[in-house]
Amino acid sequence: MSGPEVVAVVFGTIAFLAIGSFTCVVIDRLPLQLDEENRFGELWDTRPWSEVFGGTSRCSSCGTAVRPWQNIPVISWFALRGRCSSCGAPIPGFHPWVELASPLLFLGAVWAIGLDWALLPVLWLIPVGLAIAVIDLRTLIVPTRIVWPAFFVSVALTVVVAAVEGEWSLLLSALIGLAVLAGPFFVLWFLLPSAMGFGDVRLAVLLGWIVGFYAGTDLFAAVILALICMTAAALLGLVIGVGAMGLRGRKAKVPFGPALVISAYGCVVLAAQILEPFGVY
Ligand SMILES: [Zn+2]
Repeated sequence: MSGPEVVAVVFGTIAFLAIGSFTCVVIDRLPLQLDEENRFGELWDTRPWSEVFGGTSRCSSCGTAVRPWQNIPVISWFALRGRCSSCGAPIPGFHPWVELASPLLFLGAVWAIGLDWALLPVLWLIPVGLAIAVIDLRTLIVPTRIVWPAFFVSVALTVVVAAVEGEWSLLLSALIGLAVLAGPFFVLWFLLPSAMGFGDVRLAVLLGWIVGFYAGTDLFAAVILALICMTAAALLGLVIGVGAMGLRGRKAKVPFGPALVISAYGCVVLAAQILEPFGVY
């Protein structure tokens, strides 16, 4: 790597530590725990964006403002031993993990794709995927308020990359990825609405577009990568499901979002390794 590239990677890593910290704020604030079920029978609701983004960071129990030294990614959570320094209320344990995962996922993407315009969609996927996965784990809701806007931003970013590279067929690959990944989920939701929420269908639309895009210009590669993404998500979902039943009892509802997000990110960064044996990368 050249000097400027090293500077870009260091700067990017620091930026993604900060982005991870910000992602935690969204995870903390976006779904609001309700006292009574809302009209969808859910105990979680989403706040207006102005409330999610507005104001300084505060303890969600006592409202004390978080001081700057208590806001250092990863380190502060351990320094505070996972508790508010004023009232002792626990700070959710996902904080240090999300803050650590964010820069690591950035480095993984740079390793796979290099410092290139083509990084844009996967860099966007990192905070979006982390927020969706952790919110789904905590609340069993895949937040529509994140998924649809994230999808349209992803489409815009992939259009930018396709234009810069002069490879418009990448967008066709993205569309095929979307159809192959989201199609079966849609059918499953249509036939067995109790088995799968529509949130997972929406999420598959977003992730399918991105996975298909990173399969490259070969349309057959997009089909293969999306199918492998689905298979890996199903296996991972099974593991997470068994874990969830162990923790929450056998009748526990199982979140599928985290498995889909992990599988999609894995397929993006390992696209070359996955597709090479098929001779299509
Ligand atoms: Zn507090």
